[in-house]
Amino acid sequence: MDKIAKLNRRPKARSGSADSTDAGARPSRAEAEDAVRTLIRWAGDNPAREGLAGTPARVVRAYEEWFSGNFEDPQEYLRRTFEEVAGYDEIVLLRDIRFESHCEHHIAPIIGRVHIGYLPRDRVGVVVEATHECMTTRGVHRPEVSMVTSCMLGSFRTRAETRNEFLSTINLKGVARRNNGD
Ligand SMILES: [Zn+2]
Repeated sequence: MDKIAKLNRRPKARSGSADSTDAGARPSRAEAEDAVRTLIRWAGDNPAREGLAGTPARVVRAYEEWFSGNFEDPQEYLRRTFEEVAGYDEIVLLRDIRFESHCEHHIAPIIGRVHIGYLPRDRVGVVVEATHECMTTRGVHRPEVSMVTSCMLGSFRTRAETRNEFLSTINLKGVARRNNGD
């Protein structure tokens, strides 16, 4: 299946969202480009101006790329785990995995790093550090702030020393110092 065909598939309903896009609700490319022209006019510019002539098509293509994840099933990526751990029971850490996303409140970029720690028998602790452009370029205008969110499960939730070992290994203290403007 080529990329365009894949992007034209019906989005999978996301669990827990009551307002997921339903079949047939996806607008046409021309409608999406018209919506960009509307936003350009709303921002006080003229979509017919020479420099903006190709912008609606470019923006719609960029949206296809930025939001292609809406048409993928994360379970496909998360299905594979490794059961043969040969008695190894220390934390396994994947650090500084760069990611790019968009906030659902402003469709503004979120750029940051994900750290994943797990015990071979007892998955998983996850920490996400990111700059939310809706906080750095508008609103409170705080470019020095990065937002840290975490999800601790299993031993990472129940054992403070396991959790602290994970957090100190990914150097979250360094993040806190940067947040304080050092
Ligand atoms: Zn936002």
